[in-house]
Amino acid sequence: MLARPGLPDFEYIKAETFQDVFTYMKEKGDDLKLLMGGTDLFVQMRDRGEGPSFLLDVKGLPGMQEISFDRKNGLKVGAAVTLNALASHPNLLNYYGVLCQSADTVGNYQLRNLATLGGNICNASPSADMSPAALIYDGKVVVESPRGERELKLEEFWVGPGKTALEKDEFLKRIHFPTPPEKAAGVYHKLGRSKMGDLAIVGVAVLGYPDLSAPAGIQFRIGINSTAPTAYRLPTVEDFLAQNLISDETLHKSAEMAMDISAPIEDQRATAIYQKKMVRNLVYKGLNDVREILK
Ligand SMILES: Cc1cc2nc3c(=O)[nH]c(=O)nc-3n(C[C@H](O)[C@H](O)[C@H](O)COP(=O)(O)OP(=O)(O)OC[C@H]3O[C@@H](n4cnc5c(N)ncnc54)[C@H](O)[C@@H]3O)c2cc1C
Repeated sequence: MLARPGLPDFEYIKAETFQDVFTYMKEKGDDLKLLMGGTDLFVQMRDRGEGPSFLLDVKGLPGMQEISFDRKNGLKVGAAVTLNALASHPNLLNYYGVLCQSADTVGNYQLRNLATLGGNICNASPSADMSPAALIYDGKVVVESPRGERELKLEEFWVGPGKTALEKDEFLKRIHFPTPPEKAAGVYHKLGRSKMGDLAIVGVAVLGYPDLSAPAGIQFRIGINSTAPTAYRLPTVEDFLAQNLISDETLHKSAEMAMDISAPIEDQRATAIYQKKMVRNLVYKGLNDVREILK
Protein backbone atom coordinates (compact mmCIF):
# COMPACT_ATOMS: atom_id res chain seq x y z
CA MET A 1 0.00 0.00 0.00
CA LEU A 2 1.18 3.56 -0.73
CA ALA A 3 1.44 6.20 1.98
CA ARG A 4 -0.72 9.25 1.22
CA PRO A 5 -0.04 12.41 3.24
CA GLY A 6 -3.04 13.20 5.42
CA LEU A 7 -4.98 10.17 4.28
CA PRO A 8 -5.11 6.74 5.86
CA ASP A 9 -3.77 3.92 3.68
CA PHE A 10 -6.16 2.34 1.24
CA GLU A 11 -6.12 0.12 -1.80
CA TYR A 12 -7.66 1.48 -5.02
CA ILE A 13 -9.69 -0.94 -7.16
CA LYS A 14 -11.36 -0.07 -10.45
CA ALA A 15 -14.65 -1.85 -11.16
CA GLU A 16 -15.16 -2.85 -14.80
CA THR A 17 -18.53 -4.59 -14.49
CA PHE A 18 -21.56 -4.57 -12.18
CA GLN A 19 -20.58 -8.09 -11.15
CA ASP A 20 -17.20 -6.72 -9.95
CA VAL A 21 -19.09 -4.35 -7.66
CA PHE A 22 -21.29 -7.08 -6.21
CA THR A 23 -18.31 -9.40 -5.70
CA TYR A 24 -16.13 -6.77 -3.96
CA MET A 25 -18.99 -5.44 -1.84
CA LYS A 26 -19.76 -8.95 -0.60
CA GLU A 27 -16.11 -9.85 -0.03
CA LYS A 28 -14.95 -6.65 1.75
CA GLY A 29 -18.19 -5.56 3.49
CA ASP A 30 -17.79 -2.41 5.63
CA ASP A 31 -14.07 -2.27 4.81
CA LEU A 32 -14.90 -1.03 1.31
CA LYS A 33 -16.37 2.27 0.10
CA LEU A 34 -17.51 3.20 -3.38
CA LEU A 35 -15.57 6.04 -4.99
CA MET A 36 -16.62 8.56 -7.62
CA GLY A 37 -15.02 12.03 -7.55
CA GLY A 38 -13.78 11.50 -3.98
CA THR A 39 -14.47 15.12 -3.03
CA ASP A 40 -16.58 14.10 -0.05
CA LEU A 41 -15.02 10.72 0.66
CA PHE A 42 -11.36 11.81 0.82
CA VAL A 43 -12.20 14.76 3.07
CA GLN A 44 -14.08 12.44 5.42
CA MET A 45 -11.22 9.90 5.45
CA ARG A 46 -8.67 12.64 6.10
CA ASP A 47 -10.73 14.22 8.90
CA ARG A 48 -11.47 10.92 10.62
CA GLY A 49 -7.91 9.67 10.20
CA GLU A 50 -9.30 6.26 9.45
CA GLY A 51 -11.22 4.82 6.59
CA PRO A 52 -12.03 1.78 4.62
CA SER A 53 -9.05 -0.30 3.44
CA PHE A 54 -10.52 -0.52 -0.07
CA LEU A 55 -11.93 2.13 -2.41
CA LEU A 56 -13.86 0.77 -5.36
CA ASP A 57 -13.98 3.22 -8.28
CA VAL A 58 -17.35 2.84 -9.99
CA LYS A 59 -17.11 5.80 -12.39
CA GLY A 60 -16.21 3.64 -15.40
CA LEU A 61 -19.16 1.23 -15.17
CA PRO A 62 -21.45 1.09 -18.23
CA GLY A 63 -23.83 4.08 -18.40
CA MET A 64 -22.46 5.82 -15.32
CA GLN A 65 -21.27 8.88 -17.25
CA GLU A 66 -24.17 9.14 -19.70
CA ILE A 67 -26.83 11.83 -19.93
CA SER A 68 -29.90 11.19 -22.04
CA PHE A 69 -33.05 13.24 -22.56
CA ASP A 70 -36.21 13.01 -24.57
CA ARG A 71 -39.49 14.79 -23.97
CA LYS A 72 -41.41 11.56 -23.39
CA ASN A 73 -39.08 9.89 -20.90
CA GLY A 74 -37.37 12.87 -19.35
CA LEU A 75 -33.78 13.09 -18.20
CA LYS A 76 -31.54 10.21 -17.15
CA VAL A 77 -28.25 11.14 -15.55
CA GLY A 78 -25.62 8.48 -14.86
CA ALA A 79 -24.53 8.64 -11.22
CA ALA A 80 -20.93 9.52 -12.21
CA VAL A 81 -21.80 12.51 -14.40
CA THR A 82 -19.77 15.43 -13.06
CA LEU A 83 -21.44 18.68 -12.06
CA ASN A 84 -19.62 20.56 -14.85
CA ALA A 85 -20.82 18.06 -17.46
CA LEU A 86 -24.33 18.37 -16.07
CA ALA A 87 -24.38 22.17 -15.97
CA SER A 88 -23.17 22.53 -19.57
CA HIS A 89 -25.55 20.05 -21.18
CA PRO A 90 -27.86 21.87 -23.67
CA ASN A 91 -31.02 19.96 -22.75
CA LEU A 92 -30.38 20.65 -19.10
CA LEU A 93 -30.13 24.37 -19.71
CA ASN A 94 -33.42 24.30 -21.65
CA TYR A 95 -35.51 22.07 -19.42
CA TYR A 96 -33.84 21.72 -16.00
CA GLY A 97 -32.29 25.14 -15.46
CA VAL A 98 -32.37 24.92 -11.67
CA LEU A 99 -30.15 21.81 -11.74
CA CYS A 100 -27.58 23.85 -13.72
CA GLN A 101 -27.86 26.88 -11.44
CA SER A 102 -27.41 24.66 -8.38
CA ALA A 103 -24.41 22.82 -9.84
CA ASP A 104 -22.75 26.17 -10.49
CA THR A 105 -22.89 27.00 -6.77
CA VAL A 106 -20.96 23.88 -5.66
CA GLY A 107 -17.38 24.62 -4.57
CA ASN A 108 -15.42 25.88 -7.54
CA TYR A 109 -14.91 24.98 -11.19
CA GLN A 110 -11.98 22.61 -10.56
CA LEU A 111 -13.92 20.75 -7.88
CA ARG A 112 -16.93 20.39 -10.19
CA ASN A 113 -14.75 18.60 -12.75
CA LEU A 114 -14.53 15.76 -10.21
CA ALA A 115 -17.67 16.10 -8.08
CA THR A 116 -20.56 14.01 -9.39
CA LEU A 117 -24.33 14.31 -9.07
CA GLY A 118 -24.49 10.76 -7.70
CA GLY A 119 -21.83 11.50 -5.08
CA ASN A 120 -23.69 14.61 -3.95
CA ILE A 121 -26.88 12.57 -3.56
CA CYS A 122 -25.27 9.48 -1.94
CA ASN A 123 -23.34 11.57 0.56
CA ALA A 124 -26.79 12.56 1.90
CA SER A 125 -25.58 15.79 3.46
CA PRO A 126 -28.54 17.92 4.63
CA SER A 127 -26.79 20.93 3.04
CA ALA A 128 -26.02 19.35 -0.36
CA ASP A 129 -26.68 21.94 -3.06
CA MET A 130 -28.12 19.55 -5.65
CA SER A 131 -30.86 18.30 -3.33
CA PRO A 132 -33.44 21.13 -3.54
CA ALA A 133 -33.33 21.16 -7.36
CA ALA A 134 -33.43 17.37 -7.52
CA LEU A 135 -36.56 17.46 -5.33
CA ILE A 136 -38.46 20.08 -7.33
CA TYR A 137 -37.87 18.11 -10.53
CA ASP A 138 -39.29 14.99 -8.79
CA GLY A 139 -35.97 13.12 -9.03
CA LYS A 140 -35.84 9.37 -8.49
CA VAL A 141 -32.76 7.27 -7.93
CA VAL A 142 -32.23 4.00 -9.76
CA VAL A 143 -30.19 1.58 -7.67
CA GLU A 144 -28.62 -1.69 -8.76
CA SER A 145 -28.04 -4.91 -6.81
CA PRO A 146 -27.71 -8.63 -7.58
CA ARG A 147 -31.55 -8.65 -7.49
CA GLY A 148 -31.75 -6.11 -10.34
CA GLU A 149 -32.84 -2.47 -10.46
CA ARG A 150 -35.17 -0.61 -8.15
CA GLU A 151 -36.31 3.00 -8.20
CA LEU A 152 -36.84 5.18 -5.14
CA LYS A 153 -38.06 8.73 -4.68
CA LEU A 154 -35.43 11.00 -3.22
CA GLU A 155 -37.66 11.55 -0.19
CA GLU A 156 -37.39 7.80 0.48
CA PHE A 157 -33.69 7.62 -0.37
CA TRP A 158 -32.44 10.16 2.18
CA VAL A 159 -33.19 8.86 5.66
CA GLY A 160 -30.99 11.15 7.77
CA PRO A 161 -27.72 13.08 7.77
CA GLY A 162 -25.22 10.91 5.85
CA LYS A 163 -27.72 8.05 5.70
CA THR A 164 -29.51 6.56 2.71
CA ALA A 165 -31.95 3.72 2.15
CA LEU A 166 -29.31 1.78 0.17
CA GLU A 167 -29.00 -1.86 1.21
CA LYS A 168 -25.48 -3.20 1.79
CA ASP A 169 -25.34 -4.78 -1.67
CA GLU A 170 -26.84 -1.84 -3.60
CA PHE A 171 -25.27 1.10 -5.39
CA LEU A 172 -26.60 4.14 -7.23
CA LYS A 173 -26.64 3.76 -10.98
CA ARG A 174 -28.51 6.80 -12.28
CA ILE A 175 -30.96 9.55 -11.41
CA HIS A 176 -34.19 9.99 -13.35
CA PHE A 177 -36.07 13.28 -13.72
CA PRO A 178 -39.44 13.33 -15.50
CA THR A 179 -39.99 16.07 -18.10
CA PRO A 180 -41.02 19.25 -16.26
CA PRO A 181 -44.46 20.73 -16.96
CA GLU A 182 -44.80 23.08 -19.96
CA LYS A 183 -43.38 26.58 -19.41
CA ALA A 184 -41.87 25.65 -16.04
CA ALA A 185 -39.40 28.21 -14.69
CA GLY A 186 -37.32 28.15 -11.55
CA VAL A 187 -34.53 29.55 -9.42
CA TYR A 188 -32.07 28.39 -6.75
CA HIS A 189 -31.11 30.84 -4.03
CA LYS A 190 -28.21 29.83 -1.82
CA LEU A 191 -26.96 31.60 1.24
CA GLY A 192 -23.41 30.69 2.26
CA ARG A 193 -20.82 32.41 4.41
CA SER A 194 -18.99 33.52 1.27
CA LYS A 195 -19.53 33.40 -2.48
CA MET A 196 -16.39 31.26 -2.83
CA GLY A 197 -17.92 27.81 -2.74
CA ASP A 198 -19.10 27.53 0.82
CA LEU A 199 -21.72 25.01 1.93
CA ALA A 200 -25.28 26.32 2.15
CA ILE A 201 -26.54 27.91 5.35
CA VAL A 202 -29.88 27.72 3.56
CA GLY A 203 -30.63 26.84 -0.06
CA VAL A 204 -34.09 27.21 -1.60
CA ALA A 205 -35.15 25.99 -5.04
CA VAL A 206 -38.49 27.08 -6.48
CA LEU A 207 -40.18 25.83 -9.64
CA GLY A 208 -43.40 27.34 -11.00
CA TYR A 209 -45.60 26.54 -13.98
CA PRO A 210 -49.00 27.56 -15.31
CA ASP A 211 -51.80 25.16 -14.32
CA LEU A 212 -55.36 26.19 -15.13
CA SER A 213 -56.78 23.39 -12.97
CA ALA A 214 -55.42 25.10 -9.84
CA PRO A 215 -57.44 28.02 -8.41
CA ALA A 216 -54.25 30.10 -8.47
CA GLY A 217 -53.66 29.28 -12.15
CA ILE A 218 -50.11 28.38 -11.23
CA GLN A 219 -48.41 25.61 -9.28
CA PHE A 220 -45.23 25.97 -7.29
CA ARG A 221 -42.79 23.39 -5.98
CA ILE A 222 -40.33 24.28 -3.24
CA GLY A 223 -37.23 22.35 -2.16
CA ILE A 224 -35.04 23.35 0.79
CA ASN A 225 -31.73 22.14 2.24
CA SER A 226 -29.69 22.69 5.42
CA THR A 227 -32.63 23.20 7.76
CA ALA A 228 -33.68 19.64 8.66
CA PRO A 229 -31.97 16.20 8.84
CA THR A 230 -32.56 15.82 5.08
CA ALA A 231 -33.51 18.16 2.24
CA TYR A 232 -37.29 18.41 1.89
CA ARG A 233 -40.27 19.62 -0.17
CA LEU A 234 -43.05 21.72 1.30
CA PRO A 235 -46.33 20.08 0.21
CA THR A 236 -48.55 22.09 2.59
CA VAL A 237 -47.11 25.39 1.37
CA GLU A 238 -47.33 24.22 -2.25
CA ASP A 239 -51.03 23.34 -1.72
CA PHE A 240 -51.70 26.68 -0.04
CA LEU A 241 -50.16 28.49 -3.02
CA ALA A 242 -52.17 26.46 -5.53
CA GLN A 243 -55.45 27.20 -3.70
CA ASN A 244 -55.04 30.97 -3.34
CA LEU A 245 -54.73 33.87 -5.73
CA ILE A 246 -51.07 34.74 -6.10
CA SER A 247 -50.63 38.08 -4.39
CA ASP A 248 -47.85 39.58 -2.30
CA GLU A 249 -49.82 38.60 0.77
CA THR A 250 -50.04 34.94 -0.36
CA LEU A 251 -46.30 34.83 -1.02
CA HIS A 252 -45.47 36.36 2.36
CA LYS A 253 -47.82 33.96 4.14
CA SER A 254 -46.22 31.03 2.29
CA ALA A 255 -42.75 32.19 3.31
CA GLU A 256 -43.89 32.39 6.95
CA MET A 257 -45.32 28.87 6.71
CA ALA A 258 -42.01 27.63 5.31
CA MET A 259 -40.15 29.28 8.17
CA ASP A 260 -42.42 27.57 10.72
CA ILE A 261 -41.92 24.15 9.13
CA SER A 262 -38.11 24.42 8.93
CA ALA A 263 -36.23 22.77 11.79
CA PRO A 264 -32.57 23.83 11.63
CA ILE A 265 -30.03 23.06 14.32
CA GLU A 266 -27.41 25.47 15.61
CA ASP A 267 -24.03 24.86 13.97
CA GLN A 268 -20.72 26.64 13.39
CA ARG A 269 -22.12 28.40 10.32
CA ALA A 270 -25.35 29.92 11.66
CA THR A 271 -27.75 30.05 14.56
CA ALA A 272 -31.03 28.21 14.19
CA ILE A 273 -33.13 31.38 14.40
CA TYR A 274 -31.05 33.05 11.66
CA GLN A 275 -31.52 30.02 9.42
CA LYS A 276 -35.28 30.07 10.00
CA LYS A 277 -35.48 33.73 9.04
CA MET A 278 -33.37 33.09 5.96
CA VAL A 279 -35.77 30.29 4.95
CA ARG A 280 -38.57 32.85 5.07
CA ASN A 281 -36.61 35.44 3.09
CA LEU A 282 -35.32 33.06 0.42
CA VAL A 283 -38.68 31.32 -0.04
CA TYR A 284 -40.33 34.71 -0.57
CA LYS A 285 -37.55 35.79 -2.95
CA GLY A 286 -37.74 32.53 -4.91
CA LEU A 287 -41.53 32.63 -5.24
CA ASN A 288 -41.51 36.28 -6.25
CA ASP A 289 -38.76 35.74 -8.83
CA VAL A 290 -40.61 32.83 -10.40
CA ARG A 291 -43.88 34.79 -10.40
CA GLU A 292 -42.09 37.59 -12.31
CA ILE A 293 -40.57 35.15 -14.82
CA LEU A 294 -43.97 33.56 -15.50
CA LYS A 295 -45.79 36.91 -15.98
C1 LIG B 1 -13.59 22.28 -1.13
C2 LIG B 1 -14.96 21.63 -1.22
C3 LIG B 1 -16.07 22.43 -1.43
C4 LIG B 1 -17.33 21.84 -1.54
N1 LIG B 1 -18.42 22.66 -1.74
C5 LIG B 1 -19.65 22.11 -1.84
C6 LIG B 1 -20.78 22.95 -2.06
O1 LIG B 1 -20.69 24.18 -2.19
N2 LIG B 1 -22.01 22.34 -2.14
C7 LIG B 1 -22.16 20.98 -2.04
O2 LIG B 1 -23.29 20.49 -2.12
N3 LIG B 1 -21.10 20.17 -1.82
C8 LIG B 1 -19.84 20.69 -1.73
N4 LIG B 1 -18.76 19.87 -1.52
C9 LIG B 1 -18.99 18.41 -1.37
C10 LIG B 1 -18.78 17.55 -2.63
O3 LIG B 1 -17.93 18.16 -3.57
C11 LIG B 1 -20.08 17.15 -3.35
O4 LIG B 1 -21.01 16.58 -2.45
C12 LIG B 1 -19.84 16.19 -4.53
O5 LIG B 1 -20.93 16.26 -5.41
C13 LIG B 1 -19.61 14.74 -4.12
O6 LIG B 1 -19.43 13.95 -5.30
P1 LIG B 1 -18.19 12.96 -5.47
O7 LIG B 1 -18.32 12.36 -6.82
O8 LIG B 1 -16.91 13.63 -5.18
O9 LIG B 1 -18.53 11.88 -4.35
P2 LIG B 1 -17.57 10.89 -3.56
O10 LIG B 1 -16.79 11.65 -2.55
O11 LIG B 1 -16.81 10.01 -4.49
O12 LIG B 1 -18.68 10.00 -2.82
C14 LIG B 1 -19.56 10.54 -1.85
C15 LIG B 1 -20.22 9.40 -1.05
O13 LIG B 1 -21.06 8.62 -1.88
C16 LIG B 1 -20.66 7.24 -1.86
N5 LIG B 1 -20.83 6.75 -3.24
C17 LIG B 1 -20.09 7.14 -4.31
N6 LIG B 1 -20.59 6.56 -5.40
C18 LIG B 1 -21.66 5.80 -5.03
C19 LIG B 1 -22.60 4.98 -5.74
N7 LIG B 1 -22.56 4.86 -7.08
N8 LIG B 1 -23.57 4.36 -5.03
C20 LIG B 1 -23.64 4.51 -3.69
N9 LIG B 1 -22.77 5.28 -2.97
C21 LIG B 1 -21.80 5.92 -3.63
C22 LIG B 1 -19.21 7.25 -1.41
O14 LIG B 1 -18.83 6.02 -0.83
C23 LIG B 1 -19.24 8.42 -0.44
O15 LIG B 1 -19.75 7.99 0.80
C24 LIG B 1 -17.48 20.42 -1.42
C25 LIG B 1 -16.33 19.63 -1.20
C26 LIG B 1 -15.09 20.21 -1.11
C27 LIG B 1 -13.89 19.33 -0.88
